[in-house]
Amino acid sequence: MLPEKILGFGISKSCIRELAAYGAKRKAEIGADQVFDFSLGNPSVPAPPCVEEAIRELLSLDSTSLHGYTAAAGLPSLRKTIAKDLQERFSLPAREDLIYVTCGAAAGLAICLHALLLPGEEVIAFAPFFPEYRMFTEGVGGKLVTVPPLADLQPDLEALKTSITEKTKLVIVNTPNNPSGVVLSEESLKKLCGILHAAELRFGHPIYLVSDEPYRELVYDGQPVPSILRFYDNAILDYSYSKSLSLPGERIGYLAVSTRMEDAATVFAAICGGGRVCGFVNAPSLMQRVIEKCIDKTSDISMYKVNRDLLYNGLKELGFDCVYPDGAFYLFMKTPEPDAKAFAERAKKYELLLVPSDDFGVPGYVRIAYCVSADQIRRSMPAFRKLAEEYGLC
Ligand code: PLP
Repeated sequence: MLPEKILGFGISKSCIRELAAYGAKRKAEIGADQVFDFSLGNPSVPAPPCVEEAIRELLSLDSTSLHGYTAAAGLPSLRKTIAKDLQERFSLPAREDLIYVTCGAAAGLAICLHALLLPGEEVIAFAPFFPEYRMFTEGVGGKLVTVPPLADLQPDLEALKTSITEKTKLVIVNTPNNPSGVVLSEESLKKLCGILHAAELRFGHPIYLVSDEPYRELVYDGQPVPSILRFYDNAILDYSYSKSLSLPGERIGYLAVSTRMEDAATVFAAICGGGRVCGFVNAPSLMQRVIEKCIDKTSDISMYKVNRDLLYNGLKELGFDCVYPDGAFYLFMKTPEPDAKAFAERAKKYELLLVPSDDFGVPGYVRIAYCVSADQIRRSMPAFRKLAEEYGLC
């Protein structure tokens, strides 16, 4: 006998991975430049030069300590550097003893859920959401409750009010958002925090708010990305360098428990326990040292802005209805027919690989990942035109 729930996660088909596999097959058949693969959120700009410089410098250190185990929560010097960065660059309530260095944001979320959730308790996520939230929640016996969005894809806070129950233990927000690119406004976040705090008082227990922010630096029109740590005490920031430093395969990020959390030390201890239960041991040692040297650097984000503008303007001109993406590197486009999967299938006829929105918890959209070359976007426009013509949009 195997645990059915976990087996189910292994067997269930991820639309994104299936599409990526299909894309690889088509590229082998007809040539890579004939396929317009917009399926994956893999950064397309190189890591900044400081990463390579740091690695070269670090390789001259003693190998046994460089590649050895680190403390489970991370190197003390890195935790200190991260806390200082959060305080100085973002004015956030952070402290080194409440920083836990992770193997990326996915690990941070899995750890939080192991640390905080009891079987039968509920986690609220706002649609559209990163599909792994369901796996992480259900994997520890919790229930994922989803709140549908407003028309502009900001969270529906009236719907949030009716979704909170006595069993609500944790709420996840993701800004800038995968898959929509929407950045939550300060007004929305403040209201959301007010609703949660009122519920905490009503039910007499904490409701933890986890802010999943791997795209924090990826915004294109100079607007701020307000952090929930400013507005809510029982908050945990889940960050990753996968996108900002283009290091997704290196698995490095952190959790920051707010210094304002009443039981912060206990929650931090539970997070350390969550990390052990998940078997992470420690985040990659070499990368911890790299991050220490590149703490406030990013890849050349301007390339994504060029792509965002090319794609958004191009699709609008063809008559498609798109959500304006302020950040991340995804564009969410309404499908001209209600069945997003059927639309994505039709798009394949033109070698356009677009992810239907159903796995993100909303019907009727496709996600277009524009972390590709600007050239791919330009060359894909005739294919998008043919698709638009099929639906009489142009
Ligand atoms: N959260 C969101 C919203 C994401 O889009 C991703 C990755 O695409 C993750 C978490 C996981 O990121 P990481 O590579 O840091 O584990």
